[in-house]
Amino acid sequence: MTQFDVTIIGGGIAGAGVAQCAAAAGYRVLLLEKGDYASQTSCSSSKLIHGGLRYLETMQLNLVYNALHERTSLLRLAPELVKPVPFYIPLYKDSSRSVWTLRAGLSLYALLSGFTKLSRYKELPKKSWSVIQGLKTDGLIAVFQYWDAQTNDQLLTNSVINSAIDLGAKAQSYAEFIKAEKLSSGYKVTYRLNKDICEINTKMIINATGPWVNETLNKIYPQIKGCNIDWVQGTHVILDKTAPKKIFYLEVKTDQRVIFVMPWYGKTLIGTTEVLLQELPEYISPHAEEIDYLLSAYQSYYKGELPKIIRSFAGIRVLPKHSDTAFSRPRESIIWQDQNNPNIISLYGGKLTTFRMAAKKVVKKVKKQIGAKKIRANIDSIKL
Ligand SMILES: Cc1cc2nc3c(=O)[nH]c(=O)nc-3n(C[C@H](O)[C@H](O)[C@H](O)COP(=O)(O)OP(=O)(O)OC[C@H]3O[C@@H](n4cnc5c(N)ncnc54)[C@H](O)[C@@H]3O)c2cc1C
Repeated sequence: MTQFDVTIIGGGIAGAGVAQCAAAAGYRVLLLEKGDYASQTSCSSSKLIHGGLRYLETMQLNLVYNALHERTSLLRLAPELVKPVPFYIPLYKDSSRSVWTLRAGLSLYALLSGFTKLSRYKELPKKSWSVIQGLKTDGLIAVFQYWDAQTNDQLLTNSVINSAIDLGAKAQSYAEFIKAEKLSSGYKVTYRLNKDICEINTKMIINATGPWVNETLNKIYPQIKGCNIDWVQGTHVILDKTAPKKIFYLEVKTDQRVIFVMPWYGKTLIGTTEVLLQELPEYISPHAEEIDYLLSAYQSYYKGELPKIIRSFAGIRVLPKHSDTAFSRPRESIIWQDQNNPNIISLYGGKLTTFRMAAKKVVKKVKKQIGAKKIRANIDSIKL
């Protein structure tokens, strides 16, 4: 039976990152994805490589600091895939955030990013307010501009998987993990590749199945208890309207949440929502109320007729179970290892932006568990 050191289940950005990092560290790696790579959450994000200015409101300083540093690394490693974009925040008389709050937040954001080229922000003089063309100007009191970055999440994930393959990893799409059984050392993994049932042996399993993380754990014997989680759906719509190469950071007037209006292949992308789900649906799709919410938030800022919707899509975040609102819960990934079954590592939550950081932490645990190998490459210098 073929033997691997590390078998990763899930070909989203989290699994892709671990595959690349583990292959670079010299391990024999297998990645299994039940559909196409990056066909779930990792193609349904807001496509931002960012620190997350709004996470400063919940004082997630560590997350913002790490994400801003990962933004710098990704801009260097993937210049074709991750591009800087100017963000504009218009403040109106009825905005809940004040000019002072914005100044303080943007200064802290600049400080946490280490004063790189992208850390500059400014308050635009009134004569430059025309840059927010299209947005209503009644009651406008200030416009701020700062920088973050945008990517194509699906292309980024695929390029990380290709990098893992170049480093010697084996990756299989349309390969569905069915079960794993504990052996004296490691696990026997059974998966379905198209119609065939395949078996391999592996020393470690990395469960990177996103919203299905606990479902996957239930297929591992002996059983392992995972974290209690909530699923929070986020929807985006793409409007048939040409968008300028800038992103607007807008406060929704009804609940003071923030949504982004972004350029996307020449059209306008708007998102996102946060809807707590009671169960994981078989097909993940936007709810009518979410689309209404986004459109009415958009219409409260933009003049003229509502453009046609070209497409809408939804993704699901995994958040630790909590009584707080979805927004105030930590967005850092949780790396879960059961003390009695340390050869299984499960990834919960996290961000597209910080996938490399999560992968490095996982591989550090792999090394502790099964020992080091001869290093093949350093992922901090591999271009994507
Ligand atoms: C609405 C929304 C907006 C977001 N916006 C941003 C953003 O702008 N910036 C940012 O940094 N982060 C953002 N995030 C977070 C980011 O998108 C996620 O953290 C990331 O995509 C999660 O990746 P993943 O690999 O864990 O999950 P997924 O991409 O869902 O991958 C899990 C994979 O596991 C596979 N799988 C499941 N079961 C099996 C099985 N039995 N066998 C084989 N394969 C299996 C699935 O098919 C899937 O492809 C956003 C998230 C959401 C929901």
